[in-house]
Amino acid sequence: MTRWIYCPQCKLELDQSGKYPKCPSGHFIKYPNPVASAFVFISFHSKYLFLRRNYEPKFGSWNVPGGFVEYGESAEQALAREVKEETQLTIDISKLKYLGSFYQEYGDKNGTKNLGIAFCLELETRPEIVLNQEHSEYIWRTLEESPEIESTDISNALEFLKKINDINN
Ligand SMILES: [Zn+2]
Repeated sequence: MTRWIYCPQCKLELDQSGKYPKCPSGHFIKYPNPVASAFVFISFHSKYLFLRRNYEPKFGSWNVPGGFVEYGESAEQALAREVKEETQLTIDISKLKYLGSFYQEYGDKNGTKNLGIAFCLELETRPEIVLNQEHSEYIWRTLEESPEIESTDISNALEFLKKINDINN
């Protein structure tokens, strides 16, 4: 986690003796809040959609559609926007099923950790996927044949999905 040294309002040095760095004049406390993202396991006939990243970080690794939640958006709205950008699919957010929330364990270069909000979406018709420049490739795979995923929020969600799927079968 990036260390906060000064109060952004009065520029006094922050008191580092407590649990969170805080301004001695009471203007500011640096809480280590996570950044929210949303992602979705889209399936059609028990095959799930995976996308291959075309950018750093994790260039060439597999993930699923999703991205950061922007201010004013619900996780579902963020997902609809990201899925549209990344695949050209228009999703019905009322059909999203909440799966759970999962941490990206390693954090970014500033140490900020990402809390990924995971959903599932089962499609009834075969969708046509049109990738944008963020991804180089897509595949449809069963859970058993799913590719390895580096992002721990998505990989932990995938493990959870496999687990509950086994229980249901
Ligand atoms: Zn201050």
